[in-house]
Amino acid sequence: MATKRDYYEILGISKNASEAEIKSAFRKKAKEFHPDLNKDDPSAADKFKEAQEAYSVLSDESKRKMYDQYGHAGVGAGSAGSGFGGYSNFDASDFDFGDIFDSFFGGSAGFGGFSNFGNTTSSRTRATRGSDVLMRMNLSFEEAVFGTEKKFNIDVVENCDECDGHGGFDAEKCDTCHGTGTVTSQRQTILGSFLSKGPCPDCGGLGKTYKRKCSECNGKGKVKKNKRLTINIPAGVTTGDRQRVSGKGNPGTNGGENGDLYLEYIVDEHQYFVRDNDDIYLEVPLSITEAILGCKKTIPTLYGNVKLSVPAGTDSEDKQKIRGKGVDNAYRKHKGDMYVIFKVYTPKKLSREQKNLIEKLSATSLETDEIKEFDKFVRKNS
Ligand SMILES: [Zn+2]
Ligand SMILES: [Zn+2]
Repeated sequence: MATKRDYYEILGISKNASEAEIKSAFRKKAKEFHPDLNKDDPSAADKFKEAQEAYSVLSDESKRKMYDQYGHAGVGAGSAGSGFGGYSNFDASDFDFGDIFDSFFGGSAGFGGFSNFGNTTSSRTRATRGSDVLMRMNLSFEEAVFGTEKKFNIDVVENCDECDGHGGFDAEKCDTCHGTGTVTSQRQTILGSFLSKGPCPDCGGLGKTYKRKCSECNGKGKVKKNKRLTINIPAGVTTGDRQRVSGKGNPGTNGGENGDLYLEYIVDEHQYFVRDNDDIYLEVPLSITEAILGCKKTIPTLYGNVKLSVPAGTDSEDKQKIRGKGVDNAYRKHKGDMYVIFKVYTPKKLSREQKNLIEKLSATSLETDEIKEFDKFVRKNS
């Protein structure tokens, strides 16, 4: 499949185009490529559809936001049904996502052009895979580092067991469309009225109706089932990582399979450990005497405490690497390291005795080379 063109590029507008600019750019493109006005140019229909698609996304504030953030994948415009149909945040391990699927029962949540042209058969009569659903899941720092198991409830729309997904019993040919599944009707668009083929309203494009409607699913052929899912999250995931849960997205139409559910992780920060991919950084405070004289220090790691020798003369920002104590990433098959960064803290309050000792120390020559160099500069500058 060819890569999809950028929607802004298709309409020839800038990323911060206003609503009015988007609309007027689309009108221009639509006139240019409208299939009824370009009967000799077979590529016009595709260009028209491309412009329609771009317009349907950019003219919708929330879709446009998704597109700006995630590109084509964010607005259900990738290869057949690979987009995200729903979008939701959640953070509890026990949570019910029923609302996400209401759009299915409430009518079309889809995205599409205004009409079907020419000989193309109605898309509603084809089995169409459901759109994917993206959901965000909060994880604690530890859950992300070590992996975890999450259980939650989710409403998944599946075929009705009672009628095997047909919606009824005893099929017979639809009278309205004579079994073709499509009807021709006149449609109003912003460019005037056009004849277009659409799915038959009586049989939903199936070409057949049922004598007896299934009461279990009220003729829809699908039912919401509340399912408890258990997801194993591998050690090492980080914010933005996504995990696919097959077949738990939005339902397909006309026998098409469900889309997938994608979990996108948002990982909390730790109070002390700072994570950079698989490496862990930890700031360790030192007193001035520890820094001057060196010391043995107990250092917390992801895997318990370790002893570390801090050399005499350690400065703030000095680093020590502890090999292999980073994140053991099952997801990326990589083990990180840990870096200890020292920070020397100067005491703000001294006892009389401490003050005396420091004053004695001060009387000795403690200047380092850097201090001597700087003093030279001060003298030269005066
Ligand atoms: Zn049923
Ligand atoms: Zn029909």
